[in-house]
Amino acid sequence: MAATEVGRPPHEVAVDGIDVAAFTVPTDAPESDGTAQWDATTIVVVEAHAGGHTGLGYTYGNSATGTVIESVLRDVVAGRDAMAVGAAWEAMGRACRNLGRPGVASMAIAAVDTALWDLKARLLDLPLATVLDAVRTAVPVYGSGGFTSYDDGRLAEQLGGWAEEGIPRVKMKVGRDPGRDVERMRVARDAVGPDVQLFVDANGALSRKEALAFAARAAERGVTWLEEPVSSDDLEGLRLVRDRAPAGMDVAAGEYGYMLPYFQGMLAAGAVDCLQADVTRCEGITGFLNHHPQGLPTVHPSFHLHRTVTGRFSASQMRQSSPAPSFRSTSSRVTTISPGVARRTRSPRPGSRSRSYGWVGCPSSSIT
Ligand SMILES: [Mg+2]
Repeated sequence: MAATEVGRPPHEVAVDGIDVAAFTVPTDAPESDGTAQWDATTIVVVEAHAGGHTGLGYTYGNSATGTVIESVLRDVVAGRDAMAVGAAWEAMGRACRNLGRPGVASMAIAAVDTALWDLKARLLDLPLATVLDAVRTAVPVYGSGGFTSYDDGRLAEQLGGWAEEGIPRVKMKVGRDPGRDVERMRVARDAVGPDVQLFVDANGALSRKEALAFAARAAERGVTWLEEPVSSDDLEGLRLVRDRAPAGMDVAAGEYGYMLPYFQGMLAAGAVDCLQADVTRCEGITGFLNHHPQGLPTVHPSFHLHRTVTGRFSASQMRQSSPAPSFRSTSSRVTTISPGVARRTRSPRPGSRSRSYGWVGCPSSSIT
């Protein structure tokens, strides 16, 4: 008798449903980096339910991301085996074929995929790192901020505060006014002391020649990380800066990658020392695992995990986003965010209460 099938594993449990909500969180003051300005951030939060457990995932993106989850991915995932996250990921990808998969659809997949991984870990009652077969017992972290909109006092307070807390690396934004950045880097170095690594991120603000000159000045302040000195689309430019950067200075980019070909191109060009694949953009933990390059010295699985993420909101603190997506179901909890007040997309489910979450099982504890 030919064995053509095997039975379902005994641990199969169906996904009961997906909840999604989008929250727009105003900053306490307008913020900027080298190329962008903003006064709020939108986070799209997904909860996946199965077997009496709930997994949590999220992405940063326009509320349109939540609409894709609600209108497309929700029905794709519902009823699937919660233990087979890879199968759900592939099904979500197929469902997004005609939507334009890199971009909003990739972020939508990321939020759901991350929630499913968290759910699977909870069903198994194991840390996600264990479920993913962790290689390391710890990961390096850095504190990220230092916006170009900060005055010197706030810059010193933020970066110096992280250093005082024992965070051994801090990152500041540069590139809006490169001439003034030399002084800003001095302020930062004075605030964190000589033993904390100082990272800078230009968000693509500089030309190639500006970046080369800037790298030399940054080296004088002991900068060891130069992120997106030129546009991350300028692979030749990144390679140029990488090759000519002062000794000990890494060039990093890749946070805008959504799918494997983007990362393959960046690596093939020899453009970076650190590939900054962002789990919230590159289709989640499954996407990150699929995109993981072999042989690159450093990978940066950014999950934008802020320390404040374990805070909480009450429903009364939240205000309606505008325009409000027409999600069929949201739920009350969340999460983050400090400082400021969250605007939620819908009123909470009757009887629900806000609560806080510990971000157990994130692939990285980076503060990015
Ligand atoms: Mg960056």
